[in-house]
Amino acid sequence: MSSIKSPEKYYPEDRQKNRTEKGTLYLVGTPIGNLADLSERAKKVLSEVDFIAAEDTRNSGRLLAFYGIQKPMVSYFEHNKRERGELIVRRIEAGEACALITDAGMPAISDPGEDIVRLCAERGIPVSVVPGPCAAIAALAVSGLFTAKFVFEGFLSTATGERRETLERLKRETRTILLYEAPHKLRATLADLLRVLGDRPVSLCRELTKLNEQILRTTLSEAAKRYETETPRGEFVLVLAGAENAALQEDAFWSQMTEAEHVEAYIRRGMTKADAVKQAARDRGVSKSKIYNIVMKKEEASSNGGNDDDAN
Ligand code: SAM
Repeated sequence: MSSIKSPEKYYPEDRQKNRTEKGTLYLVGTPIGNLADLSERAKKVLSEVDFIAAEDTRNSGRLLAFYGIQKPMVSYFEHNKRERGELIVRRIEAGEACALITDAGMPAISDPGEDIVRLCAERGIPVSVVPGPCAAIAALAVSGLFTAKFVFEGFLSTATGERRETLERLKRETRTILLYEAPHKLRATLADLLRVLGDRPVSLCRELTKLNEQILRTTLSEAAKRYETETPRGEFVLVLAGAENAALQEDAFWSQMTEAEHVEAYIRRGMTKADAVKQAARDRGVSKSKIYNIVMKKEEASSNGGNDDDAN
């Protein structure tokens, strides 16, 4: 760290968290493609902890070798995270310092890590962060779209129902939307986004920090057309413009309806009552129980032959 001149005025040495403590889990951000993006502090912590938990020990072994760091490693990935998380936590409780790294970027962001952080929090184990590159934030910054308010969705589910629900919800999202996608699923995702969310600006951020970095600022329809002929290659973050407020108003067919009429409209379209209540609640951004209670009150009032103004 000595090669970096400290801007003393703002970050005096004694105000920095520089000691690698025992009995602590360190979340260490690693490069998303460019080896020069590993911070000095990340190198220091990785060299000083007792062991490193990595998503893929072979991959991370090569990364560490590049920086000349040799450390005992354990694997921690999606399919062993329960039993392995427990073992890692026990070692930290016994006094060891552990660094968690993943294949790229910030651990716990669409990566294993979230669970072990929760486990540590439950047991009162200190967790410290050594922030580094994050594909989503890098893409947002370079997208050219509004950055003040955004929502990160990670990977869209491939399960039909869940995917449809997410897309329907995103249709009304006014904030900028961030999605991760694998190249072999990009075409299907662009087609689904275009169909459900309608045409709108999108920035396709590909291979960030690598030789073939590309930021394609276009629209969903143009992107879909382009990738009909071109095979998507590399890693992508999709940054989508949020729905415009005017479009949102036009879209909300139920905006002049009472809650009960809104549910009725969905039932007439063939939904079950439970699904209609769920969808109306989602449209209005309120709880299911609120809509359900209003509908029940309305039904009770009409079965008593009376009017219930409160039901609206
Ligand atoms: N935890 C990581 C982070 O914070 O950056 C994300 C891990 S997630 C398993 C991997 C996804 O991140 C990829 O499928 C891609 O969508 C995105 N990604 C990672 N590196 C990227 C890069 N260099 N350029 C564009 N997208 C990238």
